[in-house]
Amino acid sequence: MSFQNLNVIDPILRALAGEGYTQPTPIQAQAIPVLLSGRDLLGCAQTGTGKTAAFAIPMLQALHNAGTDGNGPRPIKALVLTPTRELAIQIGESFGTYGKHTGVRHTVIFGGVSQHGQTVALRRGVDVLVATPGRLLDLMNQGFVSLRNLQMFVLDEADRMLDMGFIHDVKKIIAKLPASRQSLFFSATMPPEIGKLAATILRDPVRVEVTPVSSTAEKVTQAVYLVEKNDKKFLLVHLLNEENISAALVFTRTKHGADRVAKDLNKSGIAAEAIHGNKSQNARQRALSSFKSKQIRVLVATDIAARGIDIDELSHVINFELPNEPETYVHRIGRTGRAGASGIALSFCDAEERDYLKGINKLIAKTLPVVADHPYPAAAGASASPALARPQSGGRSGGGRSASAARSGNGRSGWGKRPATSR
Ligand code: AMP
Repeated sequence: MSFQNLNVIDPILRALAGEGYTQPTPIQAQAIPVLLSGRDLLGCAQTGTGKTAAFAIPMLQALHNAGTDGNGPRPIKALVLTPTRELAIQIGESFGTYGKHTGVRHTVIFGGVSQHGQTVALRRGVDVLVATPGRLLDLMNQGFVSLRNLQMFVLDEADRMLDMGFIHDVKKIIAKLPASRQSLFFSATMPPEIGKLAATILRDPVRVEVTPVSSTAEKVTQAVYLVEKNDKKFLLVHLLNEENISAALVFTRTKHGADRVAKDLNKSGIAAEAIHGNKSQNARQRALSSFKSKQIRVLVATDIAARGIDIDELSHVINFELPNEPETYVHRIGRTGRAGASGIALSFCDAEERDYLKGINKLIAKTLPVVADHPYPAAAGASASPALARPQSGGRSGGGRSASAARSGNGRSGWGKRPATSR
C-alpha cells in the first residue's frame, strides 16, 4: 500500500516523501479513500496513529483541486476543532507540512494569548482554520470569523472535549455551520454521550477504527510499584537515577502536583519541567522543546496538558499518581511505544489508589505485575499479587546497581533525608 495507490495528488505526495513517509498508517489507508469520496467519517483513533494526516491529506487535496476563487479574501472552507492549544499548533503544522506545495492557506487560533496576530491572519483570509472552541466562539462573536462558506468540518478528540467541559461551546459552534458539509468526527473512546453527539453531526458516516483502547496496552511493558504517598518522590528519583530512562513523561493528577514534582526533581539534580493549563503558552512550548531537544530528561504533565503532545522518542511513561479513570491510564501509556516501538510504563500506587489499580486491571483485562523489590515498599499488609523480584521493565531497564545496592541509598537524592530502607 502506498499513498499513490490511495490517489493522493502529486503536490502532497512530494511533501509526504519529504517527511519520509513511505506508506500510509492503517487509519490513513482506511480514511483517505472515504474522505476523498466525500463521505462523512466516524474515526475511533487516538493521537499517535497518524490520525492528523488521515484527515489533513484529503482535505488539502479537495481544497487544492477546487482552486481558490477570485481575488477577494478567501472564505474559510474547512474548520478543525481540537481541545488543546498544543494539538491545535501541531495540527496547524501538519497542514503546513503536507500542504506546502498546494497553495492552501491555514491558520491556528487558540486562547491564552493575544488575539491580535490571529485576527490579522483571519482578515488576510484562510482556507483552513484550526481552532480551540473557546477562542473560536469568542472571535465568531466579535465578527472575525464567518463559517458561512464552510465545506468541511473536523471534530477532533471529541471525548477530550467532553472531559474538558467544552461540549457546550462545541455545540454552539456546530449550530452555526452550514447544513451541507462533509463532517469528520474523531474520538479515542466512544462513551454514550459522544455517540449521541456524533449522530447529530454526521450523515451516514463510514466508521473507521484503529487500536481499540484496551489493546494499546499490549505493546507497552508495564509494572506497578506499591508505595506510600510520601515516598513516591524518593522512588521517582531512585528510578530516574538507577534505571536506564532516557526520556520520561511523568503524570500527575493535578497542576499543583506537576509543579511540585518538577520542583523536587530539580532540587535533586534531575532537570525537569512541568506543563499544565496554568502555564503560559510560551512556557509550555519552551518546556516541550527542551524535552524534545533532550536538554531535560523529564517532563511532568497533567493529563489534559499532555494530550496530543507529539514526542517520538519517549522511553518511559511514569504514573506518579494513578488516574481515577482507567481509560486515562491507557491513554497515558500509549504515549510511549509509539509507531510500533516498545515502551515502558511504570506506575506508583499508594493505599488510596488501590481501587484505581483494580479498575485499570479490569479494563486491560490483565493484572499489572507488581514490583516487590524496591527501596520504598508500602507498609506491611499492603502487598498485592503477583509480585516480581525485579522491576519487569523489558530489555531497556537495568544498567543500574542491584536492588540491594540500591537499598543502601544512592546519596544523590536532594530529598535524601528519608532512609532508603524497607520497613
Ligand atoms: P498523529 O496521530 O497525527 O499525532 O501522528 C503521529 C505521528 O506519526 C506524527 O509524528 C506524524 O508525523 C507521524 N506520521 C503520520 N503519518 C505517518 C506515516 N504515514 N508514516 C510515518 N509517520 C507518520
